Amino acid sequence: MENLTQKIAELGKRRGFFFQSSEAYGGVSGFQTYGPEGAELKRNIEDSWRNTFSRGLGHREIQAPTIMHEPVFQASGHLDGFDDMIIECPECETSSRADHLVEDNTDINEAEAFSPEQIEGLIKEHDLVCPDCGNSLSDVEVEDFNLMFETNIGPGSGQKGYLRPETAQGIFVEFPRLKQYARNQLPFGITQIGKAYRNEISPRKGLVRVREFTQAELEHFIDPDEDKPDISRVENVELLLYPVNKQEENGENYVEASVKEAVNEGIVNEWVAYYLGIAKEWYVEIGVDMERFRFRQHQPDERAHYASDCWDAEALIDGDWIEIAGFAYRGCYDLTKHGKHSDSEREFSVFKEYDEPETVEKTKIEVDMSVLGPEFGDKASEIAEKIERKVELAPEVAEEGPIFVHLDGEEYAIDSDTVSVKKEKEKKTGEEVVPHVVEPSFGVGRTVYAILAHSYYEDIVDGEERRLLRLESEVAPTEVAVFPLMNKEGLGEKAREIAERLRDYGFSVKYDDSGNIGKRYRRQDEVGTPLCVTVDYETFEQEPETVTVRERDSTEQERVRVEELEEALIARL
Ligand code: AMP
Repeated sequence: MENLTQKIAELGKRRGFFFQSSEAYGGVSGFQTYGPEGAELKRNIEDSWRNTFSRGLGHREIQAPTIMHEPVFQASGHLDGFDDMIIECPECETSSRADHLVEDNTDINEAEAFSPEQIEGLIKEHDLVCPDCGNSLSDVEVEDFNLMFETNIGPGSGQKGYLRPETAQGIFVEFPRLKQYARNQLPFGITQIGKAYRNEISPRKGLVRVREFTQAELEHFIDPDEDKPDISRVENVELLLYPVNKQEENGENYVEASVKEAVNEGIVNEWVAYYLGIAKEWYVEIGVDMERFRFRQHQPDERAHYASDCWDAEALIDGDWIEIAGFAYRGCYDLTKHGKHSDSEREFSVFKEYDEPETVEKTKIEVDMSVLGPEFGDKASEIAEKIERKVELAPEVAEEGPIFVHLDGEEYAIDSDTVSVKKEKEKKTGEEVVPHVVEPSFGVGRTVYAILAHSYYEDIVDGEERRLLRLESEVAPTEVAVFPLMNKEGLGEKAREIAERLRDYGFSVKYDDSGNIGKRYRRQDEVGTPLCVTVDYETFEQEPETVTVRERDSTEQERVRVEELEEALIARL
């Protein structure tokens, strides 16, 4: 018996949703191509996400490069901490993700939370073997493996670059400009839909774990002391929650609570809860089955290096809970890191004005340009500015040895004697605040996959087995298919004319006149087209003209006047 994963893979390939890429050259695992149906489904999901999370909430979308140079990822912590645990079979040299090996072969669910040493112990304890050749892995070392794809920028040794492992960094590094567009006013949200790359150890399950995938991310920059989410917008949305304390009990015990209750009872951080509410409503709209859906809180050890609280949206597919989105309260981690590493800390904060000015003692910094000028020429004033900023943030650097600054990729060591630091009284009108970040991060491919799996049904129609996708019209690649019963006696012309008219009206329409009508209906059922319109001989016999409108899920057919077709289709969609 085929399981759902196999059925979706088969349908994906046969009907053009998704398939292994570069198959003609043997393919490389972890890379999938979206076929014509899949690309439309994915685009509709992205548009719907955009309408809900970007335009719908008043946020703005950007597009940053997918390759970024090394300092970005040194600052973000990805070079040091973005690792998965790997174990290599000494016999056949197959690499496996060590935590998945433990999860697949024991009752342990979230093995990612363990250390490599603990995983090694579990592999030994359960006498786990290589999934490829069956050789024992009992005494094999588990190591950290960094998931970043490395590349060189420019000719020669060039500069080291990395393919971004999440779209988020492209937003964080641009914060200095983005805050200008937001007129230095918090809160504001920036979204991005784009590719991310992770050198996954063992890609699996079609679109679920791939090495190149699309993310839809929102970074909401807030003032942690003042800004509150508009909970009233989603307060009654019901959530199925799986908090850490319930995960520690035996069995799957959930908390069912509205967004308001989840916040009031302190189960979920208010900002995260707000976005869980918005996300839940969106998932319903695009056809994720709420009987196979939950929000699970991360265990403290499982959380990414930047997150202080994190929940995942998970979809149940073939008995496995698959993370389709993450909701993290990232605090001020990212902006602080970029501020420190990029010599421009103040650019990564926002100036917040006080109601009343305060008198404070201020450090006055002076750089001796008569020394810097002759030594650094036209770069001297920029270097001086950088020194001032650095000393302002950490005055002790002016006392100990040389001060290091970076300009145009070069490092300069400046003698601390060129800088003088004095204290003066001053009126202070406000202060720099490093915003906190709330991040809903969606895997678009996994959303596509969850929707395919959750809308897949089999039934019997006219004594024959039928496979169908009950896709919501919001995301279905085609809303209406138009057929002539036969391509003769003017039926084809009439059907084409109707297809054209519906397209002009704004429906997504496919015209099909090949094969018998039953096969054409089945084909549309399999790609999830909600409605089919058929022009038949009766069309011309009646005055005014009529066509058959067939509904995918019930297969019911009704005659509808051609002149009223648009309204009839809208009512059914
Ligand atoms: P993360 O930053 O790991 O929380 O990832 C954010 C979202 O991206 C996840 O919820 C997934 O939906 C998606 N995602 C992460 N890794 C992959 C992958 N290797 N393949 C496909 N989607 C992924």
